[in-house]
Amino acid sequence: MHARKIIIIGSGPAGLTAAVYAARANLAPLVFAGGQYGGQLMLTSDVENYPGFPEGILGPEMMEKFRAQAERFGSVIRNEDVTRVDFSSHPLRVWVDEEEHQAAVVIVATGASAQWLGLPNETRLRGRGVSSCATCDGAFFRDKDIVVVGGGDTALEDGLFLTRFGKSVTVVHRRDTLRASKIMQQRAFAHPKMSFIWNTVVDDISGDGRVEGVQLRNVATGERTSKRCDAVFVAIGHVPNTQIFAGQLELDHKGYAISEDGVHTNVPGVFVAGDVQDTRYRQAVTAAGLGCRAAIEAEKYLEATEAAEHIRTAG
Ligand code: NAP
Repeated sequence: MHARKIIIIGSGPAGLTAAVYAARANLAPLVFAGGQYGGQLMLTSDVENYPGFPEGILGPEMMEKFRAQAERFGSVIRNEDVTRVDFSSHPLRVWVDEEEHQAAVVIVATGASAQWLGLPNETRLRGRGVSSCATCDGAFFRDKDIVVVGGGDTALEDGLFLTRFGKSVTVVHRRDTLRASKIMQQRAFAHPKMSFIWNTVVDDISGDGRVEGVQLRNVATGERTSKRCDAVFVAIGHVPNTQIFAGQLELDHKGYAISEDGVHTNVPGVFVAGDVQDTRYRQAVTAAGLGCRAAIEAEKYLEATEAAEHIRTAG
C-alpha cells in the first residue's frame, strides 16, 4: 500500500489550518474531516473574537472559508470518521471502517465535545429545550425561564448571553463557589435576570414533547425540589475526542492528549493540534495557531526522516 506523507484527523480550526500549511508545503494532505465536519464552531452563531472579521462572522461560514482555503492548495478532504489507528510502527496506520490508509505523519486535531449530565431525559429532550450551545439555541427561548447547569466560565458566559432572550436565567451549581473568573462572577451576580441555586444537582429533566422542568437535589441536605423551566443549557465542560487514540497516544486522566509543547506527542511522527490537547485556551484562534505549528513541525520531521533515509540507502 502506498503511504502518503501526511494524514490530518479533524476539521476544526486546528485541522484545517494544518491542512492549509501542509498543502502549501506540497505535502498533499488527506484530511479526515469527520461525518460532522467543522468542529465546535459549526455549533456557534457569531464569532466576534477571530481577528480579521471586524463585523464578526457566523461559525459555520467561517469553517466553510477554512475548508475552501485548505482545498484551494490541494488538500483532499473526506467527510468520514476515522474508526481505528495503529501508531505502534511506521508507516502509521489509519482506518475508516475496513479501509486502511498509511502515512509517515499524522496530525491529530479531533478537538473536544460538550459534556452532558448523562440523564436519559436529557438525551430524549435534546433539541427540545435541552442544549449545550447557548449561542445556537438561545434565541428560541424569548421570555422563557432558562436553567443553566455548571459553575465555570462557560456557564456564566452562556447565562449572561441567555439574559438577552430569557425572562429569567437560573444557574444550578453543584458547589457553593463558582469556578468561573471573578469578572464573570461580578457580571452574573449584578445581572437582574440571573439567580443561583447552590450545592444542587439536576437529577432529572421533565417534559413530554418539550422541557417543562427540572428535578433538583441539594447535595448538602439531600432535599429534593422541582423547578419549572422551558430550557436547560448544560455547560459543565468538555471531553476530548480521543477515544480511538487510547493505548496509542499518551492521554491524561481526562483523556486529553499529552504534549509538552502543544504539538509533539510521545510517538514520533504523530503531532497534535488544538482542543484535543488544550485544556486552557480553547479558542478558534489558538487552535488555528497550533494547527500551523503542527504542520510546520510535521514538515521538519518529514525532511529530517527523509534525509536520514537518504543517507542510510546511499551508505
Ligand atoms: P470548567 O471550567 O471545567 O467548568 C465546568 C463546570 O461544570 C464546573 O463548575 C464544574 O463543577 C461543573 N460540572 C462538571 N461536571 C459536572 C456534572 N457532572 N454535574 C454538574 N456540574 C458539573 O468548564 P468551562 O466552563 O467550559 O470552561 C472551560 C475552560 O474554558 C476554562 O478554562 C474557562 O476559563 C475557559 N472559558 C473562558 C471563557 C472566557 O474567558 N470568556 C468562556 C468560556 C470558557 P465544579 O466547579 O464543582 O468542578
